[in-house]
Amino acid sequence: MNPKALVKRTFKYKNAAMEFICPLCGTNRAFTLRPQIALKNYLHIFMITVILVMCLYPVMQLNSVWVFFAVWGFYECILRMLFRKQVACPHCGFDVSWYRKDVKVARKQVEEFWKNKSIADKIKNDEKANLAENLTM
Ligand SMILES: [Zn+2]
Repeated sequence: MNPKALVKRTFKYKNAAMEFICPLCGTNRAFTLRPQIALKNYLHIFMITVILVMCLYPVMQLNSVWVFFAVWGFYECILRMLFRKQVACPHCGFDVSWYRKDVKVARKQVEEFWKNKSIADKIKNDEKANLAENLTM
């Protein structure tokens, strides 16, 4: 295991929706998004709907107001996708949502994370060695 991953992060998120400690590596973590739609998000959806209604009104007349529900669904999908992206720990690859669904899958993801990370570290070290070799020539 890489000991660098266990170092506490000094970087602090602005307006973190939730702060917690990763249960696997003990690193301080934060979510910047919430999976639920807040009042601010409804305002975004309303503004997007107003713009789309203004564009579609010549074609669809008042039926264009129903675009609100399509925008709402699309917005919620995007919000949840962005939230899911933040769930996995960037330091150890542990994904709490997968751990709750299936422990074996979560374990496999962590193993793959460390495997990919070790390969990436090896490539990085080889590039550094090549660069140092080229500089000494
Ligand atoms: Zn972690």
